[in-house]
Amino acid sequence: MGVPGNEAADQAAKDAALLASHHYRILEAQDPSQLAQRHRQRRDQNQAPPNTGPEGLAESRQRVGRQAMPARPLQTLTANCRQQLQTLYQSEWVQQWAANPHGSLLRKIPTFASPGKKLLELHIGLRRAASSAAIQLQTGKVALGEYLASISAAETNQCHCGLGVQDVDHILTKCPIYRDERRETLWVAPPRETDYRRILSQAPLLKRAAQFILNIRILGQFRCLPVTYKVTY
Ligand SMILES: [Zn+2]
Repeated sequence: MGVPGNEAADQAAKDAALLASHHYRILEAQDPSQLAQRHRQRRDQNQAPPNTGPEGLAESRQRVGRQAMPARPLQTLTANCRQQLQTLYQSEWVQQWAANPHGSLLRKIPTFASPGKKLLELHIGLRRAASSAAIQLQTGKVALGEYLASISAAETNQCHCGLGVQDVDHILTKCPIYRDERRETLWVAPPRETDYRRILSQAPLLKRAAQFILNIRILGQFRCLPVTYKVTY
């Protein structure tokens, strides 16, 4: 049996990953080179051993016939495929956004009442672990006292500082334990934002918030990262 706090942290990471998967799939759909790579991987996986019997010969003739037909330019096919994937993922994303029980904190931020490009753009340039940490902060499904207590993985939702509930707002903007790190990371340059919803909805501030939460090493699942870890490449 694992440590309850770590299990909850892992679950929080999985929840966040579920939400993040649509972000990455849409970003990937916008990148033709990744689409082409995925297409090649699927083609290689689906390639069956050659059938040398009569049926195989007939199939080969049909294939040759098809290959003899004028091929559509690969670029056109890729663009068409990309467009269809984008439409599909966007539709799935909107549906999940409305119905998914996770991510309620993010939906409370007016900018993100519905999913869109603005949300994706916040994660451009962020490394994978940092993007995951950022999503956990945005969704509130993060291994802090408030969430852990809500799933019975912690006895209390109170912060060690004794000044209230240990939630995203408290850790990012209020907790005195992390005052120095906050000053050196999150508030290292103007604006010295104290509204956590604005911090989580603006790209420069979200990057700093991710760096801050990783630097204070409060989230168990990220403690294996080196202390020199930077959230951007
Ligand atoms: Zn505190």
